[in-house]
Amino acid sequence: MRLTSYFAPTLREVPAEAEVVSHQLLLRAGFIRKVAAGIYTLLPLGQRVCQKISAIVRQEMNRAGGQEILMPILQPAEFWHRSGRWEVYGPELFRLKDRHGRDFCLGPTHEEMVTILVAAEVRSYKQLPLLLYQIQNKYRDERRPRFGLLRGREFIMKDLYSFDRDWSGLEENYWKMYEAYTRVFTRAGLDFRAVEADTGAIGGSISHEFMALAEAGEAVVVYCPAARCGYAANVEKAETVLSAEEIGTEKPMELVSTPGVSSVEEVAAFLGLPSRQVIKTMIYRTEKGLVAALVRGDREINEVKLQNYLGVLELELASAEEVEQATGAPPGFAGPVGLSLPLVVDREVLLVKAGVVGANRPDAHWVNVLPGRDFPVERLTDIRQVSPGDPCPRCGQPLQSVRGIEVGQIFQLGDKYSKLLNAYFLDEKGEKQPIVMGCYGIGITRTLAAVVEQHHDEEGIIWPFSLAPFEAVVLPVHTEEPEQREVAEEVYRQLQERGVEVLLDDREERAGVKFKDADLVGYPVRVTVGKHAREGKVEIRWRRTGETWLAGKEEVGVKVSALLEGANFVPSNR
Ligand code: ATP
Ligand code: MG
Repeated sequence: MRLTSYFAPTLREVPAEAEVVSHQLLLRAGFIRKVAAGIYTLLPLGQRVCQKISAIVRQEMNRAGGQEILMPILQPAEFWHRSGRWEVYGPELFRLKDRHGRDFCLGPTHEEMVTILVAAEVRSYKQLPLLLYQIQNKYRDERRPRFGLLRGREFIMKDLYSFDRDWSGLEENYWKMYEAYTRVFTRAGLDFRAVEADTGAIGGSISHEFMALAEAGEAVVVYCPAARCGYAANVEKAETVLSAEEIGTEKPMELVSTPGVSSVEEVAAFLGLPSRQVIKTMIYRTEKGLVAALVRGDREINEVKLQNYLGVLELELASAEEVEQATGAPPGFAGPVGLSLPLVVDREVLLVKAGVVGANRPDAHWVNVLPGRDFPVERLTDIRQVSPGDPCPRCGQPLQSVRGIEVGQIFQLGDKYSKLLNAYFLDEKGEKQPIVMGCYGIGITRTLAAVVEQHHDEEGIIWPFSLAPFEAVVLPVHTEEPEQREVAEEVYRQLQERGVEVLLDDREERAGVKFKDADLVGYPVRVTVGKHAREGKVEIRWRRTGETWLAGKEEVGVKVSALLEGANFVPSNR
């Protein structure tokens, strides 16, 4: 391919809305263009990388026994009514009507459709297990589409579904997929971690997320640094050891005046008590009404745990007016004593023997409050967010945390969808059993962006070989010099003949512009044809390290291939 006829428009300036590096670089280097919020066109360079990721994913899915299919994006609402998710999925689901007024949606995922397919075709245990997958656009009307390809409203996903006779079959396929995901992300050059995950709206029990470690990640991973432990979980799911520390000693409850003192830190300082002796009361709005959640003052509430416990679809902090209406006091003075809202109490709160809580009236708190005596603790559960330094739930070592981009997630679904959508089979004894399912997703476009987050420098992207849109670029420094042009053409042909994916930068641009663009796009290998062309020599440059070697023009093919194959390339003349 010649760059003069290749559609790879670079940008000098990136829009201010491009906050993260992958978004900026993919725009600047001409991989993507924005159409609308969370909706992008993949330009030829972007599409090439996407196809490489897809090819790796296909190989690994096929190797694990997957069979590729392609289901429609447009899904009848009827399927979603049957699973109960039409209501549950909420505003993220793109809904539309056909000309007859019938409801449809654009698939955000395909559990319903694939289960209905299998329900209609599979009768006997002899047809199981079955692993079906597709690579396709998915649609989610995300609340905050952002960060370019990292969180789109239209994006490309690989989704695989496993169908088994029993749980042990599911387990086997689940771990097979775990291995396959590990190979996919390793081959994509990602530094990643598989972590325990919450199952969210999809349902099911066991789940892992594959997190590409990156500052731009929206997820927080909590992990144990102890080499032999290996505990790692999404912070939404992470647990820690329940503190056994009793705080304060029982005394009768007492009302104290706390004028203008509302935050935990202020209250603790005002009363001369540690913040862990304060019991924090947060009021949330759900579709079932308001609820109050209580944690120790030095902890944060984990809203995912709270939401799972309550089994609600919506959970938002209540507004100041709602708090005032429910408690009779402005925010900051809410407390559980005499409050007529359901109280969800974190387990650790029980160990506070003389707590401080808001008095549900302005400028006042109760002190020496004893949970169980002064307010009910019927809804006692774990709703606290784990923080770095908390002990590992497995080995007790202090936990650490990093940010991650969720590039894939796998779930053990069990029989939730098969029962709802009537996917049964007859076992060896002729008895009807629900098919046991798993589902497994990889964000193809998100993986592309995650790779850029991890592989770049100030100059641009540094593609791992496995994903590079072109493996090499041949760059004549002065196109107007016939010698350089000719050698460049020769080297370009030679590389093409060897099957190297190569681009010839035949533009009549200043050398500086060409070098900058080559670094920006991130071709792993650059072959520079400059002043040594006269002696039949060119320079091979390794983008990742900036190392260069001079090579005779006739040996470029061999050397570049060797480099690409990861063979031991011993440069003869450094
Ligand atoms: P998130 O928590 O980031 O919203 P999710 O858990 O809802 O993602 P899944 O339903 O597990 O996503 O989808 C499988 C995979 O699809 C994810 O692991 C991710 O790689 C990708 N993905 C999900 N949502 C998006 C999106 N809005 N843009 C790009 N990729 C996405
Ligand atoms: Mg997920």
